Parts: sequence; structure tokens; C-alpha cells
Amino acid sequence: GLDLGLAWRADGIAALGPAFHTRLMPTPLPSPYLVGLSEALARELGLSPQELGTPEALDAFTGNRLLAGSDPLATVYSGHQFGVWAGQLGDGRAILLGEADTPAGPRELQLKGSGRTPYSRMGDGRAVLRSSIREFLASEAMAGLGVPTTRALMVTGSDAPVRREEIETAAVVTRVAPSFIRFGHFEHFAAANRLDELRRLADFVIDRFHPACREAPQPYAALLQAVTERTADLVAQWQALGFCHGVMNTDNMSILGLTIDYGPFQFLDAFDPGHVCNHSDTEGRYAYNRQPNVAYWNLFCLGQALLPLIGEQEPALAALEAYKSAFPHALQTRMSAKLGLQDAREGDRALIEDLLGLMAAARMDYTLFWRRLSRHAAGDALDPVRDLFIDRDAFDAWLARWRERVAQEPDAAGAGVRMLATNPKYVLRNHLGELAIRQARNQDFSGVARLLAVLQSPFDEHSAHEAEFAGLPPDWASSIEISCSS
Ligand code: AMP
Ligand code: MG
Ligand code: MG
Repeated sequence: GLDLGLAWRADGIAALGPAFHTRLMPTPLPSPYLVGLSEALARELGLSPQELGTPEALDAFTGNRLLAGSDPLATVYSGHQFGVWAGQLGDGRAILLGEADTPAGPRELQLKGSGRTPYSRMGDGRAVLRSSIREFLASEAMAGLGVPTTRALMVTGSDAPVRREEIETAAVVTRVAPSFIRFGHFEHFAAANRLDELRRLADFVIDRFHPACREAPQPYAALLQAVTERTADLVAQWQALGFCHGVMNTDNMSILGLTIDYGPFQFLDAFDPGHVCNHSDTEGRYAYNRQPNVAYWNLFCLGQALLPLIGEQEPALAALEAYKSAFPHALQTRMSAKLGLQDAREGDRALIEDLLGLMAAARMDYTLFWRRLSRHAAGDALDPVRDLFIDRDAFDAWLARWRERVAQEPDAAGAGVRMLATNPKYVLRNHLGELAIRQARNQDFSGVARLLAVLQSPFDEHSAHEAEFAGLPPDWASSIEISCSS
């Protein structure tokens, strides 16, 4: 096998035993080529970007040869999809290469799209180039934005055909995270009434990721509450950024509160609270403004799964109840920060909600508005933000209230700098991903690399890339349809 110097650990999910996974090899793909590489992540992991670009490494991260010391496996999980129990789901196309100690801490390395597993059901175990580029860019963009997320080290492509609505080509994303355990892993063992395995899984997650819960009077209720709080904070960050996940099924919810499984996600262009980004979501279950409630519903499923360990309903419900204060608090904090406010005062909530009302009425471009307001706070002219509105009187009235409120801040002069570090200039809009994908289909991967570079530091100006990546979306952007097909 190829030796990249990774220090594999043996005490991860692999050690939990055969009930949790199946050992298997990835299925090779012909003549892989490099589509994208996150050099930033490579360095965080102590890997050399040069070495990752060699043919041997491309083979390893496509699943064509083993990494030295790797013992690949697919884990098993179940879940609720679109509100309905779906039974066993995955890993249908993800293969865990192993868990390694890295300078960033222990990290699982996983290949997504590397072939069928015992959990593939009707699927082919593959992922197509377009969705793999979207997942790669989105993972690294979220990391750049400071949002908890699984990461993506690289994407390789192959000309091997993959059948979706049309014939496309195959790709493999190397994903990296402290753990890929989902709510659905717990639901899987709870639904089968396999309480030994359920307990072993919960103990593993507590000992490894939530050790403080062990000291609590009821460790499993404490775990539920810790996950509840992390999830509340995650979804508050999504809302503040205008991020729609698109498929918040319980199998797509990380036990670590990471954004996971980038499918039909979207960063809002025009602000429409009821926006549905997933073309397959005909009911609008996962609309932008429903995400906070869906997260709570999903946490309830996790609570249901942990109930046999917790023993009684009351502490489980109390743990879930934490969401009702954690989420509004987290959201208020994030939205206040977007306005340059560091402390909470009476009237702030109305200030935020009135602004969102104006933005919705104007179908305001979500990212552009916040960035221009931030630039104005940092000393630029007002016109670029004011001119975004048709109803300028209403905006002026709101602006006067906001200015008065900012003036009460202990560090009012620093508001602009704070806002520019909170309101990104660059997000992965659908049309930007789409343009990079079109180029990549013609074997030109330069667009992926250019976009990655700005998304990794989205609060910086990158003035040379402004016209290409920071403007209003073109008219055709609203006709892009992204479904679950991937
Ligand atoms: P998703 O909603 O995209 O997260 O997919 C739900 C489940 O379907 C995943 O957990 C995968 O295991 C499985 N899956 C999706 N696409 C495929 C595929 N092409 N081959 C095998 N399994 C798949
Ligand atoms: Mg999934
Ligand atoms: Mg998926």
C-alpha cells in the first residue's frame, strides 16, 4: 500500500465490532484524474499537497489501491427520510479508510462514491462529478465560514459512465471528519431493539467526543442535551448565512453537530424565507425557514432512539427542551453579530425581524445586502446598500434605528470591522458551482481551484475575483434545479 505516513488508530468505530460495519474494498475506477485538492486541509492533516497529487495518491483516494495500514469498511445506519421511517440506509456509497491521528486531532478518512457496499440497496455505490464538486466546494466553503462541517480533501474523477437522469461520469470525494456518526446510527440499533450495540455506540461517542457527559447524573440524557445544543448552534449558523441544507433527514444529521451530506443545498440568492432548494422536496418540508423546527424533530428521533438507555421519558424530554432556549439564543447572537452588535438589548429582536421583513419584501440578495451594509459600517458610502431597495423610505427609517442602536455599543467604532468578519463576501452560490462544473466536464478544473481559493477565506476582499464571484446571480441562476440525484 501507499505510505503517506498516516498514524492509523485502532480504537475507533472499527473496534466496535462487526454489528456496526462490514469490511470491504472500494471498487476501482479507470484512469482517475485530479479534479480538486484542498491544500489547506492537507496541511492541517500533516499531509503534503505535492504527495497527494501523485498518480499513486490519486489511485489511493479513488479506491484503486490501499493506503498502507488502512482496513476499509462501510458502517450501517438507518433513518427517517422526509418524516417517514425508512429502515436501513447506509453507508451505501461511502467507505471508511480508517481513523488517523493528525496534527488536527483524530480524523476519519472516507471515500464517497467508491463503489457498492452491503448497504447500497438499489444504488450503484457511485457519485457523479457534479455533486462531488458541489460537496467538495461546499465543505471547504463552510470551513472557511467557520461553520462546523465535515471536510473534503480531494475529488478525483474518472471517465467511467454513471447512469442518473442522463449518463454522467464518476467521481470520488475524500471526506474527513472526527466522526461520520449520524443520528441514524443510533436509530438503527434502537429500531432493531439491539440495546447492547446501542449502548456501545453511545458509550463510544460519549467517551470520545462528549467526555463531560460521563460525569453527569444521567450520561445518556447529557449526551442528548449536548447534541441538542450543538445542533441548535449549527442551525443558527445556517440561518444567519442563508444556508439551506435541502435534505435534513435523520441519516444526514451528525452526532457532532457538523454539516454533513451536501446534496441539493443552496446559499440563498434572493431572500425568500420559504425557499425550497431541493427540487425533489415537493412538500417544502426542508424549506429555509423550516430548518430550525426540522432539526428539533430530528433531535426528537434521536431522543426516541436513546430512550432505552435513558430509561425514563422525563430526562429525555428535558434534554430536548434545551433546544427551545438554545436555538433562539444562538440565532439572536448570530443575527446581532451581523448587525455589528455585541451585547443584547431590548428591541434588538424587533430590529432584526423588521429588517428581515424588508429584505423578504424586496427579495433582497441575502449575501450582497449584508456585505454592503458591513462596508458602509466600515466607512464606505451608503448608496450601494440603499440602492438595493425600491422602498427607500422604509429602509431609511430602519437604518436610523440601527445607527442609533450601534451608537450605544461599547465599541461602536469597531462595528464595521466586526461585520466584515461576520458577513461573507463570497458564498457558494448555485450558479458559481454550476459554472465550475461545466468547465470541469470539459476537463478544465481551473474554475474549481479559483472558486475554492476565495471560498476558503470568504471574508477577505479578493478584489481580483469580485466581478467573477461576488456579484448578483445571473437570470439563469433561478432556473437551476438541484434534486436528490447525485
Ligand atoms: P442521501 O439522502 O443522499 O444522503 O442518501 C440516502 C442514502 O442513500 C445514503 O445514506 C446512501 O447510503 C444511499 N445512497 C445514495 N445514493 C447512492 C448510490 N448511488 N449508491 C448506493 N447508495 C446510495
Ligand atoms: Mg446521506
Ligand atoms: Mg447524500
